[in-house]
Amino acid sequence: MRDLVLSDDAEPPGSSLEAAPSATAYDLFPEIAPAPLRSPPRTPARSPRPPTPTPHQKKKNYVPSFVISERSDAYRRRFHPEASARDWNDWRWQQRHRLRTLDELERVLVLTDDEREAIARHSGPLPFGITPYYAALLDPENPAQGLRLTAVPTLGEFVRTAGEELDPLGEDSSSPVPGLVHRYPDRVLFLVTGLCAVYCRYCTRARLVGATGEGSLKKHQIEDALAYIAATPQIRDVLISGGDPLSLDDERLDWILGRLRAMPHVEFVRIGTKNPAVLPQRITPALVRILKKHGSPWMSIHFTHPDELTPEVAQACARLADAGVPLGSQTVLLRGVNDDVATMRRLVHGLLKIRVKPYYLYQCDPIAGSSHFRTPVARGLEIIEGLRGHTTGYAVPTYVIDAPGGGGKIPLLPDYVVGRTGDDLVLRNYAGRLFHYPDPDGTFRASPADPCASA
Ligand code: SF4
Repeated sequence: MRDLVLSDDAEPPGSSLEAAPSATAYDLFPEIAPAPLRSPPRTPARSPRPPTPTPHQKKKNYVPSFVISERSDAYRRRFHPEASARDWNDWRWQQRHRLRTLDELERVLVLTDDEREAIARHSGPLPFGITPYYAALLDPENPAQGLRLTAVPTLGEFVRTAGEELDPLGEDSSSPVPGLVHRYPDRVLFLVTGLCAVYCRYCTRARLVGATGEGSLKKHQIEDALAYIAATPQIRDVLISGGDPLSLDDERLDWILGRLRAMPHVEFVRIGTKNPAVLPQRITPALVRILKKHGSPWMSIHFTHPDELTPEVAQACARLADAGVPLGSQTVLLRGVNDDVATMRRLVHGLLKIRVKPYYLYQCDPIAGSSHFRTPVARGLEIIEGLRGHTTGYAVPTYVIDAPGGGGKIPLLPDYVVGRTGDDLVLRNYAGRLFHYPDPDGTFRASPADPCASA
């Protein structure tokens, strides 16, 4: 791949994390590989100490820590000529320069009347917000491009259909203190911020994110939530989410992770985030050091489409994986975005290449104004059927419906059990061929076509 430029960045290079490349990710994107370690030059016998490098030499020897794809760099030069490559690679600069107004968006995209009117009509939570990095991935001319559909509002958001709810998963009714959802005895969801780098137009927490100035929980609210977890010994699993928890600065994340880690009953900490996909610059060596310090918590990354798998994202995921952070993806099935086997196959294959295990494929939750995104369940099953057996098992996510009203995640599989013949179970394989499995004492039966019909 030749479409990369390396740039200065806001962090000093040379951490041990940078010096431990993974063969897989760096083979795929060789330009993101750190410079090989060189043997120090031989020191002449008469001058045991090498001369101190001049500032000019220091600058010349500088090894940048971030890549910028050619596409991103072209966007930066065109729309942010005042910004250096170092600015571009500063995640705070990206956050500050998110596209937030109609005028800003119109400068970079040719908007349709539908998009323009949707933006003008919008009020309340789930504003639109797009990082310059992500804006560079949007097709300025094509309103039907998958990524653009997920980030730019359309009038479909104002259509309400039967069964839609503001809080379809009933999270608000299971919240013992602000910011915590405690539904299952051993797990809690810790919503530490309402801020996201990019606001997904199908967000399950559309009622919360981006509201009230995108504020994070106040320190005393985080203290209350931590106190609840500390006082509830059956909680062994904490999912830190939001909004996007990586919107918090390093110090606050360090503090929260440290407090959770100090609780002996909390065995498992996960971070749910979309930042590696929409703001990969957030995955700084400093952040990775913090994660490593706290035992490299698991990370569920929200990916939507293979177009998100850029060299920048590969580098961010390589950093996390090299630091021992187990990576899994979560993807929402979206009409016109990723609801076909070919797109999903490209996505899951691309994820495996950057060491992210495709974990969940979600049926889109029936949030208010989501009908234009929702697909029939049969489409999701068709996609799973198009993957299972046709590709690496690790590439196949679990397809789930998060049951409305708080029923939890219910997995869905195509029907591979056809029936019984005597003692044999009759099974259908991925290619449609039938096989008999001897199951003499088995009671398993194929599901009746309509279990409600005999009730
Ligand atoms: S990143 Fe997550 S929380 Fe934020 S808008 Fe997207 S789906 Fe919602």
